[in-house]
Amino acid sequence: MARKLAAGNWKMNGTVINLPQIAEIAGLAVEDGPEVLICPPAPMISRAADAARGTQLAIGGQDCHVAEKGAHTGDIAAEMLRDAGATYVILGHSERRTDHGETSALVLAKAQAAQRAGLTPIVCVGETFEERQAGLTLEVVRIQLASSIPATDAPLVVAYEPVWAIGTGLVPTSEQIAEVHADMRARLALIDGVKTADVPLLYGGSVNAENAATVFAVPEVDGALVGGASLKPADFAAIVAALSAS
Ligand code: PEP
Repeated sequence: MARKLAAGNWKMNGTVINLPQIAEIAGLAVEDGPEVLICPPAPMISRAADAARGTQLAIGGQDCHVAEKGAHTGDIAAEMLRDAGATYVILGHSERRTDHGETSALVLAKAQAAQRAGLTPIVCVGETFEERQAGLTLEVVRIQLASSIPATDAPLVVAYEPVWAIGTGLVPTSEQIAEVHADMRARLALIDGVKTADVPLLYGGSVNAENAATVFAVPEVDGALVGGASLKPADFAAIVAALSAS
């Protein structure tokens, strides 16, 4: 069975003054509870990892390059994230697919690079509002999975993040989440090597302290990728507690 995971994506928010929040969130991570992860901006990773040292809190990156090193100004290799203390990396977030034109082929190469470096990739997939309206949700997610998940049994997390639910306060119904998650579990089984039952399937998109318990009651939801609410330790604590109780 997949381990439960509460992952916070701080996006481009956070400097040294936010380190006490890392320490506070570290208190939520306990031995037999869900895995708790914060992905701060890259310049904070090393200091966040220091703040989390000796606790169960995991630290992750928000992107990585496909290469191990080289002439790639401004980019960060998976090995560098690992060196800074990260154990996870978010890949293929819709903001990167949209703002940086990332394709599933690139996300696949990044996920392979992450696994080579010993990081667990959190591969994000999800449909736009127009695609859902057109009845294309499952097709879009299937294509993204098939073209961005490495064929290997290396550690992997998949996050279903409907683009229209990210940062909008809109959340799909439990039935809509259940349909996609069941389909993702079945589709992952078709990818060589992937141990589908062991892959945590996260839901992401406007998860907050109030709706977390409802989201976690959905079958095949093993946790959440949380943006805005992960910046507020009290709200994130409530989400971790809801996941623990689910
Ligand atoms: C995200 O960006 O991954 C996300 C889920 O954001 P929010 O929780 O703010 O919708």
